[in-house]
Amino acid sequence: MAPSNSESASIIPQPPDGGPPAARASASDAPPLPAPSPFDPPEHEREWITVAMELAPAFAARAAELDETAELPIENLRALNEAGLDVALLPVVHGGGISFRAFGQVLRIISRACPSTGCLWLMHMGAAYGLVTMSDEESARYYAAELTAGKRFANALSEPTSGNMFLVPLQSSVPVDGGFRLDGAKRFVSGCEIADHFLVNTLVDGIPNFFGVERDETISFVPIWDTVGMRATRSQLVSFEGTVLREERRCRPSSGEQTNPIEVGLAFLSIGVAEAAFEALAAHASARVIPATDAPLSHMQWVQFAAADMHVRLQAATLLAERSLWLADLRSPTAHTAAVEAKLYANQVAKEVADLAVRVGGGSGYLRTSPIQRHFRDAQAGALMAYSVEVCQDIVGRAVLGVS
Ligand SMILES: Cc1cc2nc3c(=O)[nH]c(=O)nc-3n(C[C@H](O)[C@H](O)[C@H](O)COP(=O)(O)OP(=O)(O)OC[C@H]3O[C@@H](n4cnc5c(N)ncnc54)[C@H](O)[C@@H]3O)c2cc1C
Repeated sequence: MAPSNSESASIIPQPPDGGPPAARASASDAPPLPAPSPFDPPEHEREWITVAMELAPAFAARAAELDETAELPIENLRALNEAGLDVALLPVVHGGGISFRAFGQVLRIISRACPSTGCLWLMHMGAAYGLVTMSDEESARYYAAELTAGKRFANALSEPTSGNMFLVPLQSSVPVDGGFRLDGAKRFVSGCEIADHFLVNTLVDGIPNFFGVERDETISFVPIWDTVGMRATRSQLVSFEGTVLREERRCRPSSGEQTNPIEVGLAFLSIGVAEAAFEALAAHASARVIPATDAPLSHMQWVQFAAADMHVRLQAATLLAERSLWLADLRSPTAHTAAVEAKLYANQVAKEVADLAVRVGGGSGYLRTSPIQRHFRDAQAGALMAYSVEVCQDIVGRAVLGVS
């Protein structure tokens, strides 16, 4: 049964036998949720969080191997679809209707277990949700049906030249029969090799336009993705050679009011990684006995002080991120700014927590066999993903200083 908000202790999932608190810290347990807050998902949506918590242990068990082999977590992605989570976020008319608040918690749980799966799922959902909500009625129905059937979606937005400014493409398409012809490349397209549909942006008459593009023989992949972290996302370069972007799959111009899952989700990707890093840090601090004091590292004051700081920062990052989801659910125009602020902070906190985990882990945490080094590598990605921390700082800094 889904945990209830009215439980006095918290909504932290309990072991089935109500075992001791220490048992909850094990890596195979379902990840804890924060204490009840006004930003929590509605009670009737808690079943989705339970679903994610049930899937998470298997995802966590495969994460190290996927990092090693850099293979796509196809089994995990299929499980998410089969559990109904792909469709859940779509508008009610297409069979979904869950809140962004529930979506964020689900993403956080998945990312904590396996960040590559979290990243792939977020990009898949962002592209599919974008195509369903920005297309005309007939195309929206088509994309919703494709998503329901388990088809895969990817965002082909960042260009080698535009980089972080992914909403401002520099590549143009030229008119041809039935649409526009695109010759160009998009870089770091997570899950592109298994994608059936791409959300692509390009200049048409000098104006950015989104299109839905089906995979065909004009689309190929250049294997550039040999990275430090997030290895199983296989975010390759996608080459378009004479690809026709069909007029009927051109999206409506964005009103700027709609929130996209990626916008509010990226903070939760980092929060999931940060939580996993903190858990590994705590486990090592409890297990490693230092001969000089004959006590575990966790008894040392510097470790306690540093862990306290990270715990509080992580809570603050989570609250900021949850607030952005709450505003998105309210369709508040401030949701966009809140999401930028939340991403900026969550990206930084993930790197800080992972850095502390390396310090506490010592040489043992530096070994390839330790989860700590993997969390450290994965924690770097969020800050690089658009908008990068620096671009977020630029947006927020200009706003708070009144610079246009
Ligand atoms: C794990 C991962 C998954 C990804 N998945 C996808 C995906 O599915 N689809 C997709 O389209 N893209 C994806 N991306 C791409 C991502 O969103 C960014 O666009 C990309 O990482 C930017 O890389 P770049 O080398 O072009 O960086 P650049 O944009 O060149 O940035 C380099 C440096 O310059 C700074 N900088 C750049 N522009 C500005 C500015 N205007 N103001 C201040 N500083 C600036 C940056 O902060 C950074 O420090 C992914 C990236 C990663 C790491």
